[in-house]
Amino acid sequence: MNFHARHYRTLRPVKVSVENGIFRSIDDIVDGDDLPFIAPGLFDLQINGINGTWFSDENLTVDQCLEALQAHYQYGITHLFPTLITNSFEALQNGFSVIRQACEQHSWANRMVLGCHLEGPYIAIEDGPRGAHPLDQVRPCDWKELQRLQAASGNRIRLLTLAPESEGAPEFIRKCVANGIAVSIGHTAASTGQIAAAVAAGATLSTHLGNGAHGTLRRHPNYIWDQLGEPRLTASIIADGQHLPASVVRSFFFAKGKENIVLTCDASGLAGCPPGVYNFEGNSFEVLKTGHVVIAGQEQFLAGSGVQTDVCISTMMQMTGCSLADAWDMATINPARITNVDCAEFEVGKAANFVLFEQEETSSELKILKTVAAADVVFDSF
Ligand SMILES: [Zn+2]
Repeated sequence: MNFHARHYRTLRPVKVSVENGIFRSIDDIVDGDDLPFIAPGLFDLQINGINGTWFSDENLTVDQCLEALQAHYQYGITHLFPTLITNSFEALQNGFSVIRQACEQHSWANRMVLGCHLEGPYIAIEDGPRGAHPLDQVRPCDWKELQRLQAASGNRIRLLTLAPESEGAPEFIRKCVANGIAVSIGHTAASTGQIAAAVAAGATLSTHLGNGAHGTLRRHPNYIWDQLGEPRLTASIIADGQHLPASVVRSFFFAKGKENIVLTCDASGLAGCPPGVYNFEGNSFEVLKTGHVVIAGQEQFLAGSGVQTDVCISTMMQMTGCSLADAWDMATINPARITNVDCAEFEVGKAANFVLFEQEETSSELKILKTVAAADVVFDSF
């Protein structure tokens, strides 16, 4: 298979040859300034579901899980971490075991799911930091519980979001890191000292920095500055254009640098659903006409994003002026480095997972034309 496209880094036309599932050659060619771009498939660390399916659903089935995974190809996403949020042990165990079964039964799903993200349940109790996580299921760190969930997932939990003030957090973080689970700080109201202790214990990421926080905060110190100013923490940010204003995205970007930002959409299970009120696990959510997903009855507290990672790329470019290549790295190699997994890379000898797309010049908006995973065309807009 040969493809002609423009390289997302050099922006120059290239001829790409794919053989036996890998890139055989990537060569510059002379003509092709109007060709679509080619880039490695996107990788998102935090996706809760899509089209009304939540990976956290205690009644999730293997078919629903597969359908939800497959739906991401149209957005150029070839790798993701299904994300399960605070819930009962039984519901989490079911979710992880369904994901394991889906991956064991279908090699494409196993390639797509590079790991799972457990967001909670060891988080802050307070309104604001807790976000949309159910209060009655928040609990202190529990290593035995995590081991049982890890067994249910077939060892797929590779990222855990917790609050450093959760009882026993430093020791728990050390155990996670020693067992190959990256630890991220999030849904927290931690003190400066508690954040420092979590970082010393091995936490390396902040989960959606600037969201899952109080509406009003002491000017300083506070847990946002403490994480922003800590060079050992990479920051994941929801760059969907809804969760953070441009000045905040720019401040985070300038403070952390392009290598220490991870873009995530944190898509809600209601992403892709028409406007309306939806009930899930006893909570009422609303998809507004604007596409925002909120707690029903108010418009202030967002409950995950209504868009996917491709939109985060264009928003990041718009808000910060960063290059296409830099934004793309923040949604591919940066999350892979933090979680120590192999995602798609656009290099000779690597697996042929890639996206062909066009980009609108003024808005930077992407139009995904084709997604290829392991040399199979898994989405084609034509
Ligand atoms: Zn969250």
